[in-house]
Amino acid sequence: MPRIKIDHNKCTGCRHCEIACSLNHVTGVANPRRARIRVFREGNVFFPVIAGPFVDAACTSKLNIKVGDQVYDMCLLCRASCPQKPFFIEADTGFPLKCDFCGIPPNPSCVRWCNSGALELIDD
Ligand code: SF4
Ligand code: SF4
Repeated sequence: MPRIKIDHNKCTGCRHCEIACSLNHVTGVANPRRARIRVFREGNVFFPVIAGPFVDAACTSKLNIKVGDQVYDMCLLCRASCPQKPFFIEADTGFPLKCDFCGIPPNPSCVRWCNSGALELIDD
């Protein structure tokens, strides 16, 4: 099953992936707010997050997650779009956005535009 492996240690925060994704899904429009990948910053660390399921209620199991020596709020890395983190909803249409791997077979624009190697298409 294809998935995109993320190595946040290699992410520079350039946001080319957001541009690439929006260009691939909205012809001729580079608008990160329409992208199915968003890059969040926590201090000097960048976390690319790829859109997963849409849910209409915030979860009740908010946890912390340890990455290296640092503890982060799990919401930062959650792929769901919920009322607490509505980043993967188009502002003008309310349409939920979800990664579609840029087609069949998968040909992820975000991976192709990421020069740092932070994103990798794998099949497992
Ligand atoms: S293109 Fe790669 S390095 Fe740039 S923000 Fe996206 S994941 Fe990070
Ligand atoms: S694989 Fe395609 S749809 Fe999914 S986040 Fe990357 S560019 Fe967007």
